[in-house]
Amino acid sequence: MSYKGIETALIHGGISTDERTGAVNVPIYQTSTFKQDGLGKMRGYEYSRTGNPTREALEALIAELEGGYAGFAFASGLAAETAVLSLLNTGDRVLISSNVYGGTFRLLDKIFNHFNINYTISDTEDPASFEKDITPDVKAVLIESPANPLMTITDIRAVAEIAHKHGLLVIVDNTFMTPYLQRPIELGADIVVHSATKYLGGHSDVVAGLAVVKTKELAERIAFIQNSTGGVLPPFDSFLLIRGIKTLGVRLDRHVENAQKAAEYLSKHSAVKSVHYPGLPTDKGYEVNKKQAKNGGVMISFELKDNYDINVFFESLELITLAESLGGVESLVCHPSSMTHASIPEDIRKKVGITDGLIRLSIGIENIDDILEDLDRAIAKSEVK
Ligand SMILES: *Cc1c(COP(=O)(O)O)cnc(C)c1O
Repeated sequence: MSYKGIETALIHGGISTDERTGAVNVPIYQTSTFKQDGLGKMRGYEYSRTGNPTREALEALIAELEGGYAGFAFASGLAAETAVLSLLNTGDRVLISSNVYGGTFRLLDKIFNHFNINYTISDTEDPASFEKDITPDVKAVLIESPANPLMTITDIRAVAEIAHKHGLLVIVDNTFMTPYLQRPIELGADIVVHSATKYLGGHSDVVAGLAVVKTKELAERIAFIQNSTGGVLPPFDSFLLIRGIKTLGVRLDRHVENAQKAAEYLSKHSAVKSVHYPGLPTDKGYEVNKKQAKNGGVMISFELKDNYDINVFFESLELITLAESLGGVESLVCHPSSMTHASIPEDIRKKVGITDGLIRLSIGIENIDDILEDLDRAIAKSEVK
């Protein structure tokens, strides 16, 4: 069925009901194996690593939402990335955006390098400079836009065009935007990956990863890797994600409305040195982001001026919780250089602009006045007099 709007697909997309009983939710098929009616006579499932009906419903849903050929659900965002990067061979190289999630960097820097699969940090924000980084061994590019934690924007269409000219696979980590705000396959990506732990789940209660591929050929290869390496998402967690995705539209509408107000508030505050939010017309990524995404998304990072003590700032927050992760209904704050991006060596952090003063906010769906009051109080308390 096709829908006029993604809001409907969020609720009715993929396999959204139970054929046998008419249940309006897909049941949790908590089973490891399936009866065979005779040798080689399967009813569509044989073993839950290979395929499980609850997981399959989620996989069909995310494929439809991203406009891909097939979807795959994994036990975490990093498990999804591991499966996707397993498409590469020894001697291959992948270009990565200059700020990516710390765990993505660690996966390449500390695990894939054991197999002689290498990476180069590339300024994908500048397509011309990106093209110069394409050496003969480069086989893929992994883009985050907005990139974590400086919210830098990559022109996905421009980079995908250059990448395809050189035969590269274009992978986009769409965690920060979700298909509700940005659809990378329409912009030229071959593969989309998600930490579904974040906005897709939306309630900070499940760790999950998703991958969506554009072609049948990639679908067959990822299905083989998923079954062979085994990092699959369990049935209950698949159910939780399906449940979370149903409300993605209404949650994000409020998240973004709040984030826009918080970014405007911070950008006018006399204590604030810099704000990174692609929804602000003054942001350097604003125009490109507007072309490819519905709005600026939810994530904001900022720095306080030098006469503010960030330790006091973090300890003075009462509503906004200091924690790793993002994308839940509650507002969270983190300190990238010591938390989410600590696995990136200091010299690289400095080079790409992840300063020790950088603060990252994941704005929740609470009343915006409560969020702003909390920020206001913590900023005031942290001033060094
Ligand atoms: C959290 C995150 C990941 C890793 O996902 P997990 O579910 O924690 O394994 C990857 N990319 C981005 C952008 C993230 O925020």
